[in-house]
Amino acid sequence: MSSIHELGYLKEKINELKDEGVYRKLPILEGPNEAEVILDGKKVINLSSNNYLGFANHPRLKQASIDAVKKYGAGSGAVRTIIGNMDIHEELEELLAEFKREEAAMVFQSGFNCNAGTIQAITGAGDIIISDELNHASIIDGTRLSKADRAVYKHSDMDSLEKVLKEKRDKYKNALIITDGVFSMDGDIAKLPEIVDLAEKYNAMTYVDDAHGSGVLGESGRGTVDHFGLHGRVDFSIGTLSKAIGVIGGYVAGSKTMQEWLNHRGRPILFSTSLPPAAVGGIIEALKMLMESSEYTEKLWNNAKYFKEKLGVLGFDTGHSETPITPVIIGEEAKTMDFSKKLFELGVFVSPIVFPTVPKGTGRVRCMVTAGHTTEQLDRAVDIFEKVGREMKIL
Ligand SMILES: *Cc1c(COP(=O)(O)O)cnc(C)c1O
Repeated sequence: MSSIHELGYLKEKINELKDEGVYRKLPILEGPNEAEVILDGKKVINLSSNNYLGFANHPRLKQASIDAVKKYGAGSGAVRTIIGNMDIHEELEELLAEFKREEAAMVFQSGFNCNAGTIQAITGAGDIIISDELNHASIIDGTRLSKADRAVYKHSDMDSLEKVLKEKRDKYKNALIITDGVFSMDGDIAKLPEIVDLAEKYNAMTYVDDAHGSGVLGESGRGTVDHFGLHGRVDFSIGTLSKAIGVIGGYVAGSKTMQEWLNHRGRPILFSTSLPPAAVGGIIEALKMLMESSEYTEKLWNNAKYFKEKLGVLGFDTGHSETPITPVIIGEEAKTMDFSKKLFELGVFVSPIVFPTVPKGTGRVRCMVTAGHTTEQLDRAVDIFEKVGREMKIL
């Protein structure tokens, strides 16, 4: 008999993945995340990053990171509650609060652990969390870590949300409605004005995870709350510093009370080392750039519009995205995988997304256009889409 330490039970599961055709290797990027990259040894146009503004390899961010390393070192040395809270961490939170037009902000080491740490800290036994069915995995995990009860409403369906509130609100002390600001698979925006109205009608709090809205929507990328002019009416405004901002980290923007409480009960703040100086320096520079100028967000939206229009004219189904996220819906799972593979062979990297991430029969490649793409690169990508589309009789 084989020893348990050979992990036979995991080997069996890995073989199941292989049988199902969903086993994969991680693609390897050689060099920085740019509009054009060397991936698995091949030069391709990159349509798969969350580097919306092209900040990940921006000279100003890199210099600011280097400067922060020179002044503060490579690591922060401890969790924030001991001695890992440097003045640049405080500076970043003040700047974020100003950028988000909120009273205060609390920074975490990632968007993922921001959700994992915040949701459980602000809810408890006797409360209810009401969540959109398409919310991100980190919200689902954060909710699981809470002692509150939970309910799910149909995606962006306000009748479904109101039904849950009507049935359940009175049975609980506090209610928290959680939604993504921008849904990452289709690029649709949450119906935030209606959600906030319902929250106010039923005395519930609101929590928006704006990972794909930060740096994208609102004035110079201030997010979905700013896009709808809902300042002061959303209790917890979550953002990531890993996508458009180009570095790493997550945050909650909102009231001073929120910040005070998370300082004491946000478990990733208490039990995980704070962001390294290089990250903090780069993020501060990114926020300054957005506060100086809207040229980056304008470029992003212009590029996205250009690319979406060209694909649409060719006859591709680009879904109902309202943001730079551009799905190209192919349908059948195997065909979607094949489409992505052929694009790669001709020089475009765009990863396929199929069931169970999206419903069966709605397989797609999800194109992420950024401010860093040139018109020439986008034209070249469109030509390759057309070629593969015709070859596969999608067009
Ligand atoms: C990407 C994403 C996260 C995770 O953010 P990281 O900073 O990459 O950990 C959280 N929520 C949503 C909705 C996301 O899209």
